[in-house]
Amino acid sequence: MVGVPASLAAAIEMLASLPGVGPKTAMRLALHLLNRPATEVQALAQVLAGLHDQVGFCERCGCFAEQQQCLICQHPQRQSDVICVVEQPVDVLMMERGGMFRGQYHVLHGRLSPVDGIGPEQLRIAALDQRVDEGVGELILATSATVDGEATAHFLARRYQSRVERLSRIARGVPEGGELEYLDEYTLQRALDQRVLWE
Ligand SMILES: [Zn+2]
Repeated sequence: MVGVPASLAAAIEMLASLPGVGPKTAMRLALHLLNRPATEVQALAQVLAGLHDQVGFCERCGCFAEQQQCLICQHPQRQSDVICVVEQPVDVLMMERGGMFRGQYHVLHGRLSPVDGIGPEQLRIAALDQRVDEGVGELILATSATVDGEATAHFLARRYQSRVERLSRIARGVPEGGELEYLDEYTLQRALDQRVLWE
């Protein structure tokens, strides 16, 4: 870019690599940062730099955590015998935005996908086995409404149906092919409320 100092161009380029940020927005953001006091921008840089060091995964449920266990697993008022199984940590964040679910989660970190060579061993199934063995009142399958998400739900249903008191699947407020991440919290909440018992 003619007339743009190399450091500014680098900032624009990095910002443009973020999802949903085009070249124009990237330039606007970079110029905005340049206009803010240096201390503010340094604070932002520091937060970003520490992100990978600070945030890991909960050893119990697999969601984001800054300690060994996440805040949901540690929360005394959450029902530990109701477990909602989701594919990704971001799905937990989306569910929590609705704010109505009082149980806990289990994040698989993916879904079964034979085409991509992803089998049960690649997912956090062993950890779920262990939790089920500890006793589960209800297991809610909240994998996506994609082909692989449905296959994953079937796999989990076969595996756990006789081992939990209740097994349910979130309802079809979730559109066909739907990733949970892209639903609004109302739709997601309704899908959870109207979950159906697994036959
Ligand atoms: Zn947790």
